[in-house]
Amino acid sequence: MRKIDLTSFQVATSETARDINRRIVLNLIRTHQPISRADLARQSGLQRSTVSAITEQLIDERWVTEGANGRTPRGRRPRFLHLNKERVGIIGINVRPARTTLAFADLDAHFMAQDSLATLTNPEKFVADLIPRVRNLIRTRPEIICEGIGISLPGRVDLATKRLVFAPNLGWSDFDLKTPLEKAIGLPVELENAANSCALAEIWFGRQPEGLRNLVAVTVSEGIGCGLILNHQLVQGSTGLAGEFGHTTIVPDGIECRCGNRGCWELYASNSAAVRYYTDSTSLARNGRSSTRSRAQNVSFEDLLRLSEQRNVQALEALTRMANYLGKGIAILVNGLAPDVIVVVGEITRAWRDVGESITDAVKKHSFTGASTRIVPTDPISQPRLRGTIALVLQKHFGAPSVA
Ligand SMILES: [Zn+2]
Repeated sequence: MRKIDLTSFQVATSETARDINRRIVLNLIRTHQPISRADLARQSGLQRSTVSAITEQLIDERWVTEGANGRTPRGRRPRFLHLNKERVGIIGINVRPARTTLAFADLDAHFMAQDSLATLTNPEKFVADLIPRVRNLIRTRPEIICEGIGISLPGRVDLATKRLVFAPNLGWSDFDLKTPLEKAIGLPVELENAANSCALAEIWFGRQPEGLRNLVAVTVSEGIGCGLILNHQLVQGSTGLAGEFGHTTIVPDGIECRCGNRGCWELYASNSAAVRYYTDSTSLARNGRSSTRSRAQNVSFEDLLRLSEQRNVQALEALTRMANYLGKGIAILVNGLAPDVIVVVGEITRAWRDVGESITDAVKKHSFTGASTRIVPTDPISQPRLRGTIALVLQKHFGAPSVA
C-alpha cells in the first residue's frame, strides 16, 4: 500500500479513468496481439462498448491497426487488432566508455537500423559527432515518425537537472547531454543509468513472467551497476543516485576506487578486475622465469573470454575469482532486497557455463535469509542496455499513469 503524497497528487476525473483504461487496453494488445475486441473485453473486464470506443480511438490515432479476420465456429468473424509498428520509431543510444551504439527501433523494440561510434573523453566533441549519426538513422525510415530518443549511460543522472553527475568510468562529470541533443534534433531526450535501462528492458521486453514485481539488473562491464525495480517501480532515489551497489565496500582497506572509496565491489567483480587478475598471475609466472616484458599487458576482457574457451587455466582462474566476488556482492542484494530475480548483464554471461556455478555458490555461501531469488544471465544478443532505452520513451504511452 502506497501512502498518498499530499505534495504531489492528481484527483481522479473521468479523464483519469479513461486514461487508465486506455493504457490497460493498449498493453493488453501489446502483450496478446493479435487479439479480438471480444477477448479484450474478457481480459480487461471492461464493457464491450467501452472496449470498442477505446479501440476506435487507438485506431484513429494509428496506435493500433486491424488485421486479418479471425475464425470462430459460427457467427461474425472478429477482426484482430495489433499494434501499428509503423506508428512510431524510437532512437536508442547506449553510451559506454569506449564505444557508443545507436539503434532506430519500432514499438516492439526491434532494431530497424543500427550504428556505432567511438565515445570520446571530451563530451562536447562527442555530442557533435553523435548528432549527425542520429539524423542519419532517422533518415533510414522516413515514413516512420520518430517519437523520441532514449539514452543509457554508465553513470547516474540527476533527477532535477537531468545532468550526468556520477560517471567515474566515463570520465565525464556534471555534463548536460539532454539539452544540446534536444536542440539539434528537435525530439525529447530521456536519460537513464545503464543498469536501470537493463532492468526496464527485462520488464518490458524480456523473458520475465507478466506481473513480476521485484527485479534487480546487475550490469557487469568496466564497472558494476545495479538497476532496481521494487513493487513494479524503478527505484531512483530522490536525486537519481540510487543503486550504486558497485561502490559499496566489499574488501576493507582494498584498492582505491575512482569514486574516492576503497575496496569497492566493482574493483573486484568487474571485467576490469578479471583482466587485472589475469595480468597479475601471468606476469608473476613470467617473473618467475626472469622474463621482463609483459605480453599480457594489453589483454582485454574479450581476450580473456576467448582464452577461457580454449581452457586456458589462468584465464579460467581469473574469471572464477571475478565470479566469486560477483556472487559475494549479489548476496548483499539477495539479503537486503530479496528480489524475485536478479539478471546479470554483460560479456561475462557468455562464460556462464564456466562461472555460473561459482556465482551461485558464492551467493549461497553469503546468504542465509531463505530468499528464493533466481539468478539468471541475460542473452547478450538481446542488447539490453540499448533495448531499455526504447522502454524509456515507450513508458510515456504504455506505462502506468501516475495518480494519487
Ligand atoms: Zn568506488
